[in-house]
Amino acid sequence: MTAEYLCKVCKGHLKVKTSIVLSAQKISGSDRGLVFLNPEIGNYTVTTHPSFRIVEGEEYIYTCPICHSQLNSAKYNHLVRIIMIDEKGKEYNIYFSGIAGEKCTFKIRGNKIEEKKGPDVKTYNKYFEVPDEDKKYL
Ligand SMILES: [Zn+2]
Repeated sequence: MTAEYLCKVCKGHLKVKTSIVLSAQKISGSDRGLVFLNPEIGNYTVTTHPSFRIVEGEEYIYTCPICHSQLNSAKYNHLVRIIMIDEKGKEYNIYFSGIAGEKCTFKIRGNKIEEKKGPDVKTYNKYFEVPDEDKKYL
């Protein structure tokens, strides 16, 4: 059994067969279409229809193709959040960048980073890492 991916709002299944299916729209324009993401953490292959080209460096709004809710995080600028349920039924928040070409994925449970992948995680580490001097207050 493999991990399942769900919409954070409607909890609908976003993974169909071997891809996570999301709807994407370029922030600076009206270009939109479906994107197929690889469910393997750290694999940044994106598949789209040839009529919808993802432009590197552009930021996209991702929405759930089932309930049309926006999946971009309101809390963490430039990140998109979906839910992952692993083989054991444990739930995680998965964050990835809404900016095309940025490679980073955070797998979070509670407020603990379980896994992070990709060369661009350094840009967003600050969202999830608690500075040492603040840890004594937790
Ligand atoms: Zn949904």
